[in-house]
Amino acid sequence: MTETNRLSKKIAAIAESATLKVDSKAKALQAEGRPVISFAAGEPDFATPEHIVEAARKALDDPKNFRYTPAVGLPALREAIVRKTKRDSGLDITPAQVIVTNGGKHAVYSAFQTILDPGDEVILPAPYWTSYSEEIKLADGTAVEVFAGADQGYKVTVEQLEAARTDRTKALLFCSPSNPTGAVYTPEETKAIGEWALANNLIVVSDEIYQNLTYDGVRAISIVEAVPALADNTILVNGVAKTYAMTGWRIGWFIGPADLVKGAANLQSHMTSNINNIAQIAAAAALDGPQEPIEEMRQAFERRRGLIVAELNKVPGFHCPMPEGAFYAYVDVTAALGREIRGVTPTTSLELADLILSEAEVAAVPGEAFGPSGYLRFSYALGDEAIVEGVRRIQALLSE
Ligand code: GLU
Repeated sequence: MTETNRLSKKIAAIAESATLKVDSKAKALQAEGRPVISFAAGEPDFATPEHIVEAARKALDDPKNFRYTPAVGLPALREAIVRKTKRDSGLDITPAQVIVTNGGKHAVYSAFQTILDPGDEVILPAPYWTSYSEEIKLADGTAVEVFAGADQGYKVTVEQLEAARTDRTKALLFCSPSNPTGAVYTPEETKAIGEWALANNLIVVSDEIYQNLTYDGVRAISIVEAVPALADNTILVNGVAKTYAMTGWRIGWFIGPADLVKGAANLQSHMTSNINNIAQIAAAAALDGPQEPIEEMRQAFERRRGLIVAELNKVPGFHCPMPEGAFYAYVDVTAALGREIRGVTPTTSLELADLILSEAEVAAVPGEAFGPSGYLRFSYALGDEAIVEGVRRIQALLSE
């Protein structure tokens, strides 16, 4: 056995999560004492609300929480997820249709493992979150990218999706509000895409993790609310991380029809057994408890969105449409490429991101992580002062 073939082909073919990689690079530089401002990871800067933390503290006093519990999740949390799904996605489900996962990322992974066979194609609207493409590959599927640029508000049309469909197409990944672009599909657009998926008997993997973070009074309608008949063809992915500032607690979920839930539950019984009980109890407190702290965080994101987009659009060569959801600004930087800055001429967004990190000490994730080059993603889930200071450093650098 040589060193080059010790890794499986599958693992050798995937790349490290670019969002986590840029974030850890920024954190390592900060730990060295460098004044790096990081717009890399999509992670709220707020503390988890106190009543949620208190529920976890209390859970630690009960020894029954130190034991194995059902692999698919605690009954109380599955019931809380049923109520949340009715409230926000307009869908009636039973607790048996819910699997609690180790964050939304794990639910997406399980979804593709559960539905794909070698050669199956998944239509993936691009720009897309960096882990989707790798998780499709890990399930032996093929991602078929359908790109929509800033000129389309980063939203694909049914005509584009139809042009990408083949007789191997098994599923569509749908994410609205979108990571990385913050785009929110209108109810009409969502309905048209849902009806197209239903007519072609596709499975929709709908990632709704940002559904509660929308602005300007916009509502992100669930694809199953727009097209109720699609419920039997849909896996809903969601979690508490973004809405409740609970990224590190790792609680997400997978909702689907009985056959897919049974398959994913079998997988989970071998992969994780139950998810951490204390975190599950905290997540139930988040879903069932007071929602006011969540509204305060949403309002802070809305204010920061206005701030960052205004500042980004002042950078020479940057063009940033106003996102309607999530906490990302996705900037078309193509007009900033090909010009010499401090002896370097970046021709890709990857090179531009490197230059900005080394010369301005500001971290953003390059478009290459999410599809085509030519873009930078800025998470604005950080304080107002850091937002202004970070973007001003880029303005200064790119004005040279
Ligand atoms: N979902 C967040 C992001 O896109 C967290 C990092 C990750 O898991 O990719 O930045």
